[in-house]
Amino acid sequence: MSSQPAPLLDGTAATAYAAAITAARDEVVTRLQTVERPFTGVAAAELRKRIADVDLDAPLSSSAAVLAEVGELYLHDAVWFHHPRYLAHLNCPVAVPAVAADVLASAVNSSLDTWDQSAGATYIERRLVGWTAARLGLGDRADGVFTSGGSQSNLQALLIARENAGGTDLSRLRVLVSADGHFSVAKSARLLGLGPDAVVEVAVDEGHRMRPDDLERRLLDLRAYGLVPMAVVATAGTTDFGAIDPLADVAAVAHRHATWLHVDAAYGGGLLTSTRHRDLLAGIEAADSVTVDYHKTFFQPVASSVVLVRDAVTLRHVAWHADYLNPADADPDDRPNQVDKSLQTTRRFDALKLWCTLRELGPDRIGAMLDTVVDLATATGELLADDPDFALAAVPSLSTVVFRYTRDGVPDAVLDDVNTAARAALLASGEGVVASTTVAGRVHLKVTLLNPATSLDDVRFVVDRLREYAADELAVAA
Ligand SMILES: *Cc1c(COP(=O)(O)O)cnc(C)c1O
Repeated sequence: MSSQPAPLLDGTAATAYAAAITAARDEVVTRLQTVERPFTGVAAAELRKRIADVDLDAPLSSSAAVLAEVGELYLHDAVWFHHPRYLAHLNCPVAVPAVAADVLASAVNSSLDTWDQSAGATYIERRLVGWTAARLGLGDRADGVFTSGGSQSNLQALLIARENAGGTDLSRLRVLVSADGHFSVAKSARLLGLGPDAVVEVAVDEGHRMRPDDLERRLLDLRAYGLVPMAVVATAGTTDFGAIDPLADVAAVAHRHATWLHVDAAYGGGLLTSTRHRDLLAGIEAADSVTVDYHKTFFQPVASSVVLVRDAVTLRHVAWHADYLNPADADPDDRPNQVDKSLQTTRRFDALKLWCTLRELGPDRIGAMLDTVVDLATATGELLADDPDFALAAVPSLSTVVFRYTRDGVPDAVLDDVNTAARAALLASGEGVVASTTVAGRVHLKVTLLNPATSLDDVRFVVDRLREYAADELAVAA
């Protein structure tokens, strides 16, 4: 038998643990201090080859060698969300206390499913659920649970809505969501066994917000056809336009028709901490369930999300009792088992990140960071509206800006290719990263601003690069 100690974290490994954590931390520090671009522009084929060439059955001789290898395979060509010219998706730079909290959570490795695997972690999670529900104004009976992300939160909320609708034939259930709602709503409908026509798209106004009059009309139509509206899903911050549906009006219509209202605030949820823009969420307190992604607008590392319900009792629809884990006769005060509320069983202590962030920074500083990027989006919108080379698709409402390179006399299909090529060229240069989307069938560019360190000059730099790449592409196409 080998006399080497098991390489596992315990008291005898304390020195090795400290060395490993320090080395990893130093690597991060060096990268943060030297990274000059959000991306190197490396090709997928190149990384695929480098990673395929590793012999997983032949371990390296030291932790230093592993760190060096990971540096080449991953860190050197990572996409850096903290970089001020990373403007692509809904990824935020992460709060320092949250990253430190992850060191603790990984080391202790609590599992949030049962009290006897989590102890204080259960109550920390519960306090944060309660804090979020109180900020939403969901009332005294509210509850919820942390999830892996907005997609899982939406799935759980719709599962509860489905059960709440009663034992109707699944093919007759309908979910109403605006055309700009998140795809996880349609995906959830499929996972929940609803029919192929289950999702009914509600029309939006020119600001990409759900039209309550169209919602009303569609609800009446469904009833007339003997179909069962199972849920209305309003979005507080659509992924493309950051549009916030008129929550109070939508809630009034949904409740007049006795239909469950789920608000997908995966993106807009951070406004709960804003002192200047909290009113954008007015009406959210009327929701039956809400999704909030802390890993978007609360500056938390992935994964950190929550699903909340107005009435804790409705969470029973996901409860399942296993004799060995959470027997039905367990006293909920003695043995508060979060697994009774969750789709997951073993579950990370993701709540600790948000706890440490709130305790160190407080909610107002989180809100102020979000307010900064909302203002930057407004300024970016003005910049592009005044720029003859670009067409702005909509006045920004949260922190995204959707636009398109344009030129008089050039066919739309050619401009589609030009915009796609400009985005690809920017990515390959690594000097900036933007996203794209389709609006009314036409390719558009999109920036999502979540980094309060991004300046209008950074945005201008990226826009100018896009302009150059687009002009080059147009010259080739012509
Ligand atoms: C991001 C997003 C989701 C999905 O959340 P994940 O955390 O990526 O699973 C759902 N809805 C909206 C509006 C989003 O922006």
